[in-house]
Amino acid sequence: MKTPKCPLCGTPLKAIRGYDVHGITTDWVAGCYNCFFQSSHFWKTKKACIEDMDRLVSLFPPIMRVWPGDKLQVEDGSICEVINVNKNLAMMDVRRGEGRPVFTIADTHVIRWPWELEQEGGTEQ
Ligand SMILES: [Zn+2]
Repeated sequence: MKTPKCPLCGTPLKAIRGYDVHGITTDWVAGCYNCFFQSSHFWKTKKACIEDMDRLVSLFPPIMRVWPGDKLQVEDGSICEVINVNKNLAMMDVRRGEGRPVFTIADTHVIRWPWELEQEGGTEQ
């Protein structure tokens, strides 16, 4: 299963083991080691915690879930690579392929986001 990225900083989320007052490991929580974003929901198993990550990031608007290097489909049906994301303006710089011109689109011009496209290979980090 592909690990979703932190909606705040883009680092892949991890299942983090919690500690109680006695220092004994307890439940698992989805979180980010980079910026300390963390779910408030604890899980009994690591597997359940990882499965919850998709739900967790799905609570955020798409513009916060897209990162440079992601592929998405735009209005004319072509697949574009994301070069840069302006999360404040909900705009992205994208291009149709290596060496092709970069152009800017709004999030409303996206018809399929990366997580809505067919997954290829296992290259995702
Ligand atoms: Zn983060």
